[in-house]
Amino acid sequence: MNQVLDVIVIGGGQSGLASGYHLKKSGLSFLILEASGEAAGSWPNYYDSLKLFSPAKYSSLPGLSITSSSDCYPDRDEVVQYLKNYASHFQLPIAFHQRVEQVSKESDIFQVRTTTGEIYNARNVICATGSFNKPYIPTIEGQEYFKGNNIHSAFYKTHDPFKDQTVIVVGRGNSAVQIAMELADITNTTLAVRKPISLMPQHILGKDIHFWFILTGIDSKWRIGKSLVNTSGVMDLDGYKQRLKEGKPKQKNMFTSFYEDGVIWADGSKEKVDSVIFATGFRSNLDFIKDLGGLDVNGVPLQSSGISTVVSGLHFVGLSGQRSFASATIRGVGQDAKYVIKHIRKRDR
Ligand code: FAD
Repeated sequence: MNQVLDVIVIGGGQSGLASGYHLKKSGLSFLILEASGEAAGSWPNYYDSLKLFSPAKYSSLPGLSITSSSDCYPDRDEVVQYLKNYASHFQLPIAFHQRVEQVSKESDIFQVRTTTGEIYNARNVICATGSFNKPYIPTIEGQEYFKGNNIHSAFYKTHDPFKDQTVIVVGRGNSAVQIAMELADITNTTLAVRKPISLMPQHILGKDIHFWFILTGIDSKWRIGKSLVNTSGVMDLDGYKQRLKEGKPKQKNMFTSFYEDGVIWADGSKEKVDSVIFATGFRSNLDFIKDLGGLDVNGVPLQSSGISTVVSGLHFVGLSGQRSFASATIRGVGQDAKYVIKHIRKRDR
């Protein structure tokens, strides 16, 4: 393909779609390349019981509201449907089944090559591939000897297969706590944590906490909110505080190693365990820009506010803490996409 577009967006999830919305408004020529066959990002792969932690009225991409009643917390399938509707409502140009494997650059033009052999040319690239494809599990002594199930939360769908088991969930973020809570209904579950879980109330003075995030600027102001990304607590849905008090699930300091049948806790005691679920996060999924020199030695993009600090014309949308506390959420990604596209317009002027 010889045409040179203004922008190629890699990834057609919420970050790619929000970018598409602002690109369409800007009049720049662009195409979104999406590896899968639908514009729903990683949402179809999230666990069955997932509900958004923000109510519908604070859970929309720019320009189109999610249709649920404004005070309810949409579930996973509603988000999937919303994203697909969003793409068709704004008639965003998306090429499906186009997994990008390499981006190179020659004479100020990017060549974006996909696994089907297609090459797309553009003056700018926006990487919007999320991180769900790269689950991270820390290395723990004795892991290779453990005979039970050892999975990342990315592969957890429902508690049913774990019924009556002894399960450990590693992590202290929203996913770890939500998964442990539902497992604790039918299993003997322990959360293994490096620091005690800190909970945030879902409502303050009768208002959802997202109302206060917006009012105080935590959600939108660069630096204030950005510094909270790794320190904020888990949303206290459905009486989590009480349930932790009752030990359903239990909470314990992280175990030190595995043995054949289970784990060894810090005090040296052994516990027989059937399954360990690591809700230990994800890493950047950007190997396709490695040869451009856009990543540090750990594969993390070298960028500021979504603009590459080393490769001119290279951009990112959807990174955690990119510009604010809400950057990598459905409610916050739109403002980052707007900022990046404004930068591209200025650059191309
Ligand atoms: P993704 O949804 O991962 O989409 C990336 C897209 O890029 C995918 O469609 C993928 O197929 C495509 N892609 C990847 N690599 C390539 C490639 N090489 N070439 C072409 N295409 C590619 N946020 C909230 O606001 N509220 C919540 O309640 C919430 N709950 C969450 C629960 C879980 C379990 C997780 C993991 C995250 C949650 N988030 C939540 C955070 C965030 O909103 C989601 O992770 C969201 O899916 C991120 O959107 P994205 O578009 O950046 O990435």
